[in-house]
Amino acid sequence: MKTDGKTLAAWPEQKLLRALAELANAVSDDVPGSEGSRRAAQRFVDRWPGFLPSADDALILSYFLRQVWQRVRTPGWDLVLVGLLFSPTPGELLKEIETFRVFGETEAFDINRLKRTVGLDDMIEHLTVDWARGRLGYKPQTPLQVALNLLIEKSHLTKICANPDCPASFFVAKRSITKYCSDDCMAPFQRQWRLDWWRRHGEDWRAKRKKGRKR
Ligand SMILES: [Zn+2]
Repeated sequence: MKTDGKTLAAWPEQKLLRALAELANAVSDDVPGSEGSRRAAQRFVDRWPGFLPSADDALILSYFLRQVWQRVRTPGWDLVLVGLLFSPTPGELLKEIETFRVFGETEAFDINRLKRTVGLDDMIEHLTVDWARGRLGYKPQTPLQVALNLLIEKSHLTKICANPDCPASFFVAKRSITKYCSDDCMAPFQRQWRLDWWRRHGEDWRAKRKKGRKR
């Protein structure tokens, strides 16, 4: 799924972050292989043409994204992420993740096969020497790679909504202190805070107001 610069220009940062959050929310972990999950993955692929080749890939990547979003940090997951950033064939790598998802443990995960999915040619294609900044530069080749690179750069903004009833809890916040994905999710809690505040401070507040009036 190699794309040229022109195609990448059609994928601005905000659009890619939206796609990632939507994919993380698309499938539920309870029934990852269910018919409903498959349909959700297919809907994602249809809504975002050019982002992932198949619904199978979307299904597995959705699972992987939720791990990263929930701050599951393991060397295996990091290796998958590096692989996806460099591999020209994400499908191969995603198949390895599928093994992990099904068996749910790192032993089932063939690290050596994973390592072989990226070669030196792939590395050369994705890396540049950035003399001006004194470091290596990363050159993503596909919208997915730009998005995953953003996921690392913006990891302080990838959040899980604090409302337990949120219908789409994985979101990208504008500021790192944000706890709720939307005003709708925050509203019931705001009401509760006001009530709690009033219970604790209402009497004082009324007393002060009375005093103020007398003056
Ligand atoms: Zn929410």
